[in-house]
Amino acid sequence: MRLLVWLAFAALVYLALRSRARAMQENLRRAAREQANSQANAQAGGAGPFAQPQPHSAAAENMVACSYCQLYLPASEAINRSNDHFCCEEHAQLHAAGVPHSTAPHSSAPHSPSNPTE
Ligand SMILES: [Zn+2]
Repeated sequence: MRLLVWLAFAALVYLALRSRARAMQENLRRAAREQANSQANAQAGGAGPFAQPQPHSAAAENMVACSYCQLYLPASEAINRSNDHFCCEEHAQLHAAGVPHSTAPHSSAPHSPSNPTE
């Protein structure tokens, strides 16, 4: 009968150790899994190589045309005068003075017949 008691005690110790070992293993596995999950989340949600913030470039800016010479320029760089946009202060003044753009004097023609040599 004493052998049976020892066997029962040994079985109890064995089961206790085994359950404790299994719990420790589960803890380790859970910790490893949580670590992997956190790493995956950091890769997916964080600033990964595929996460490209889209900056506001000048090309995406609203473009307006100069009311005097019809030159297109970003709205932030245009000069606004009473619902009109101008590329420069001079054109705003010329437009206000009523000077048409076609008669504006050009200092140099792009295709002059005479070719001065310098
Ligand atoms: Zn202009």
